[in-house]
Amino acid sequence: MRRIFIIGSGFGGLALAIRLQTAGIHTTVLEKQSKYGGCAYVWKEKGFTFDAGPTVITNPNAIKMLFTMSGRLFSDYIELLPVTPFYRLCWENGKRLDYSNNQLSLEQQIAQFNPKDVEGYRKFLNYSRNVFKIGYLQLSTVPFLKFKDMLRVFPQLSRLHAWRSVYSMVSHFIENEYLRQAFSFQSLFIGGNPFTTSSIYTLIHALELEWGVWFPRGGTGALVNAMVKLFKNLGGEILLNTEVSHLEIIGNRIHSIKIKDGRSFDVEAVASNADVIHTYHDLLRSHPIINKRVTSLKRKRMSNSLFILYFGLNKSHSHLSHHTVCFGPQYKKIINQIFNSNKISNEFSLYLHAPCNSDPSLAPSGCGSFYVLTPVPHLGTANINWQLEGPRLRDKIFIYLEKYYMPGLRQQLVTHKIFTPFDFRNTFHTYQGCAFSLAPILTQSAWFRPHNRDSNIQNLYLVGSGTHPGAGIPGVICSAQATAQLMLQDLLI
Ligand SMILES: Cc1cc2nc3c(=O)[nH]c(=O)nc-3n(C[C@H](O)[C@H](O)[C@H](O)COP(=O)(O)OP(=O)(O)OC[C@H]3O[C@@H](n4cnc5c(N)ncnc54)[C@H](O)[C@@H]3O)c2cc1C
Repeated sequence: MRRIFIIGSGFGGLALAIRLQTAGIHTTVLEKQSKYGGCAYVWKEKGFTFDAGPTVITNPNAIKMLFTMSGRLFSDYIELLPVTPFYRLCWENGKRLDYSNNQLSLEQQIAQFNPKDVEGYRKFLNYSRNVFKIGYLQLSTVPFLKFKDMLRVFPQLSRLHAWRSVYSMVSHFIENEYLRQAFSFQSLFIGGNPFTTSSIYTLIHALELEWGVWFPRGGTGALVNAMVKLFKNLGGEILLNTEVSHLEIIGNRIHSIKIKDGRSFDVEAVASNADVIHTYHDLLRSHPIINKRVTSLKRKRMSNSLFILYFGLNKSHSHLSHHTVCFGPQYKKIINQIFNSNKISNEFSLYLHAPCNSDPSLAPSGCGSFYVLTPVPHLGTANINWQLEGPRLRDKIFIYLEKYYMPGLRQQLVTHKIFTPFDFRNTFHTYQGCAFSLAPILTQSAWFRPHNRDSNIQNLYLVGSGTHPGAGIPGVICSAQATAQLMLQDLLI
């Protein structure tokens, strides 16, 4: 029997596994952790449930399609709850914008910042929709294997001014600095500096307006469990606590997978959902072509890392919105420090997650589970001792949240945990502890990103944030579609 293996059970790995299994190819997922979901794992303590990673679910149709194509009813597995507003954007001086797909309300709020920007915003929206049609609807599920694939889309990218940055393009349409921040920060969700990331990523705005922002009942972990259940119902197999140590190559094909505990599996094909540099550097280290590949990959620009603080309180803070973005005082300076400085910034911007406002079952009655994250430099940019600095940053963030957003927080604390760039590196094997793989800049996108099928090793495929189209749940689910298309072409002949 053909045995196909996927290394890693992140959203990308699971989506690919479901596609292959649906096509009748027996698929096994190997996961080093004791939990499914990659960075979307769940941890529970003292009655609190914490989704560790993604919380903003966009493009639900891409997820639903995984269920419908295998003849199952999505609603039998999971329920998605609409989140309104999508985010609350807040500044320290009390200014605020509730961002949603209620166009009238959005434009009324924009007018309060700057009446002239209503017209500019409409033009920006039009631009964002055009980028979305091309960058997302047309190209996100197409594998870019040859340079000519890239050449073909150059005229379109050029017409869309893809060489300009997200912030520069937003500023072209919108004058007010608060609004420029409000419509450019989204690239940070996929590890992109708004001042250097291609304006193609303004498509996130149109994507959110088109399909909304959702939250699974039971948390993102419930969505992961639904995908695992579907895959198992289809006959697939997932092995937890199974860390791949290397891939044995004969000629230009992977012959077997070696597991850290000594087990070995003969393979027909392998798709790696693990970090792309870990895949080439650690799992394929014995192969001569790989050295060149690793050197070139290590020269790429990596995305930022994150400092995450999970906490459970004996108060629900129901005045908060489900998602709050707390802008720090100096947007450009803070972002510059995240991507270019070798130390932790004294000022920060935060994303605050308050899921109990959508689903109170995630904490004991009357309590609230929360997390707050701030983007920080990856370990190659800033060699910070996070064992020392982590607790210091935690204390600063608690004081800040208490002052601006959550009065009495420290007295209400029941449990908490921090997750630093060291944890990204040690738990998920991510290069330099980055949180979103290679940075989403134009010269690292589409054909310039590691391809969905390796060009030298015939039966090696990639899926997840390190390959086309990139990070974020919609991105890695699209990568699974692109990779599945190639694998099915190759395997079903
Ligand atoms: C804190 C955080 C918040 C985010 N918020 C959002 C959000 O709100 N919305 C959104 O759309 N996106 C969000 N993202 C981005 C999104 O979650 C990720 O881009 C996406 O989930 C990554 O999926 P992936 O398929 O690349 O796999 P990953 O989640 O990176 O999983 C890879 C898996 O491979 C396993 N692995 C690694 N090495 C080995 C090995 N040698 N052997 C076996 N297994 C191995 C790892 O243990 C891991 O489980 C967030 C990311 C983070 C970190």
